[in-house]
This record gives sequence, structure tokens and C-alpha cells, in this order.
Amino acid sequence: MRQFTYERATSAASAAAAVADNGNAKFIAGGTNLLDLMKLEIETPTHLIDVNGLGLDKIEATEKGGLKIGALVRNTDLAADERVRRDYGVLTRALVAGASGQLRNKATTAGNLLQRTRCPYFYDTNQPCNKRQPGSGCSAIGGVTRQLGIVGVSDQCIATHPSDMAVAMRALDATVETVKSDGVTRSIPIADFHRLPGDTPHIETALDQGEIITAVTLPPPVAGRHVYRKVRDRASYAFALVSVAAIVRPDGTGRVALGGVAHKPWRVEAAEADMPNGAATVMRKLLDGARTTEENEFKVTLAERTLAGILEETKG
Ligand SMILES: Cc1cc2nc3c(=O)[nH]c(=O)nc-3n(C[C@H](O)[C@H](O)[C@H](O)COP(=O)(O)OP(=O)(O)OC[C@H]3O[C@@H](n4cnc5c(N)ncnc54)[C@H](O)[C@@H]3O)c2cc1C
Ligand code: SF4
Repeated sequence: MRQFTYERATSAASAAAAVADNGNAKFIAGGTNLLDLMKLEIETPTHLIDVNGLGLDKIEATEKGGLKIGALVRNTDLAADERVRRDYGVLTRALVAGASGQLRNKATTAGNLLQRTRCPYFYDTNQPCNKRQPGSGCSAIGGVTRQLGIVGVSDQCIATHPSDMAVAMRALDATVETVKSDGVTRSIPIADFHRLPGDTPHIETALDQGEIITAVTLPPPVAGRHVYRKVRDRASYAFALVSVAAIVRPDGTGRVALGGVAHKPWRVEAAEADMPNGAATVMRKLLDGARTTEENEFKVTLAERTLAGILEETKG
């Protein structure tokens, strides 16, 4: 690990300004992703700004009937919150499907959204990777692709976003609240928060340099059965091959978002009208234009069968 300096932030705006002014500075929250990447010298910040003391660790009711989740709320606390368990079950289920108890005790809401891909070539510093080193090439294309993306991919990158929590938040239409170095705040719909790789896979979100996440806001609860089903190679402590976050009403209508298939949580609202007609019809629209490899084409069938199982279970 390379040497770095460290400070504790005293306000969100001053933390944002410090990172905006220094391209080699980064925020640190739970550190469960950033420190791993620093040990491997994939991330090499020279200055860390610890945001844990900013008091952004509360879950509060909003005037509109939703919830405002502070950026520093730990994944464990979010999953266990009575209101989240009762009204946003898909979110609790997604959170507890991720990582391990110990990691969830440290991992924060903002850090979880910003965790980096688990593409094996991103972690192998001997291999070209456009995300790690822009312009160096993509080792995954023509390489081992079982875990990688099938939709929204580009000729520069086929990585997936690894967060479970973000998939549930996409199904819930969450909004990411931020503040910039000049104090200007933004509310970014989660649909627009994560980017597709295109020609710039190293740019992963809509955040500007130094822009800090202060909270994630959930709209009022969405009625229906809330399900999160994650399919993976091991029963626990593994990232999704495919995951499905679904909210299904008694008449079969609802919402569905996928994890493990794209560079961002994947949702196509137009596909949801077909939920009463069955999983195959939904998946045709949801995965329209999918670009698979021999090794990962199974994800199309897996996603369809996972949704079919959910629709069967939630019938009536
Ligand atoms: C072994 C292992 C297994 C895992 N399995 C899963 C899994 O199955 N599913 C899953 O979803 N996740 C999994 N994870 C990932 C884990 O959920 C993330 O590491 C965690 O959520 C990151 O949160 P953090 O607070 O520790 O982030 P940090 O590591 O502190 O930060 C991550 C990034 O977010 C930035 N950041 C942090 N806070 C802010 C802020 N307020 N504003 C702007 N930027 C900010 C940091 O600068 C950094 O770039 C796993 C991790 C490990 C190590
Ligand atoms: S898929 Fe993306 S992260 Fe993986 S090697 Fe290619 S550019 Fe890097």
C-alpha cells in the first residue's frame, strides 16, 4: 500500500471542497472496498478524508411519506430498521443477501452504491483494463466472462455493478442526494446515478469530482409482495450471477430490476406492463439487445427462470 495522509471531515461541503481541489484525494466511509483496492494499488489516493463523523447516520421519515437514509447508515442498521423491514422489504432482503454480517456492520449506504466492479481483470494489475487504466484495453472481452455483463455493455467494458442494495433501490425509484464543493445540492434519480460503460468505463457515476453523497431518499412505499432473489455460485458470501428485485401486486402487475447483468442496476419500466403475461415476455423486453458470450448466455435463461419463480410464488 502506498503512503497517504488522513483527515476527519467536519462538514459535508468542506469535505467536498477538499476532494474537488485535490484529484488524488478520496472520501473514506466503512473502507471495506476502498482499503482493499488501495492494498492492491488499484486505487492510489494520496489523501483520505474520513466522512464518518458528519452525522449522516440517521434514517428519517420524509414529509412526502418516504424515508431519508443518511449516507453513513450502515448496511446492517438499514436492513434492520423496522420501517424498512415493514414497508421496503425488497431493500432489507437485498441488503442481507450481500457480503457478510461483519462487512455489513461497516459498509455504508453511500459506499455500497460506489463500490467498484468485481471483474477479475480489474483486480489483476498485470492485465489491461480500460476501467483501471483508460485506453489500455479490455481483457475480459475474449477472456473469462461467466460473471460479466450481458446488457448495456460496450466494446470497451463488459463489467457488472456488484451491489445488491442498489438493485432494490432501483426498483424502489430511490434518489441520491449530494452536495458539491460550492454547497450546491443535487437530487439524482438512481436510474441516472450509475452510468453505462460506453467509451469511458472509468467514469462510473453521475457524480462530479468532490461531490459527496449525503443521503438516499426513498419515495412512499410501493404496495405488493417485495422479493429479492440472488442466484450465485455459493450459498453465501458471493456476488450475484443474476439477482432479481421484484415488487408484485396481487393482480400480477409490479416492478422488476436485475442485478449481475449490467454496469448498473438494470430496469426497463416498459417491460413491467408484461408482468401479468409471464417472465418470458418480460425478459424479452428487459434484456432486449443483450450481447452474450458462450460463457454467460446462461444468464438470460437464469434471469427468466428466477423471475418466473417469483411470479409463481407471489400469485394471488
Ligand atoms: C468479501 C466481500 C464480499 C462482498 N460481498 C458483497 C455482496 O455480496 N453484495 C454487495 O452488494 N456488496 C458486497 N460487498 C461490498 C460491500 O458491500 C462494499 O464494500 C461496501 O458496501 C462499501 O461501503 P463502504 O462504506 O465500506 O465504502 P468505502 O470502501 O469506504 O468507499 C467506497 C467508495 O465510496 C466512496 N464514498 C464513500 N462514502 C462516500 C460519500 N458519502 N460520498 C461520496 N463518496 C463516498 C469512497 O471514496 C470509495 O470510492 C462485499 C465486500 C467484500 C470485501
Ligand atoms: S470488463 Fe471492464 S473492468 Fe473488466 S477488464 Fe474489461 S474494462 Fe476492465
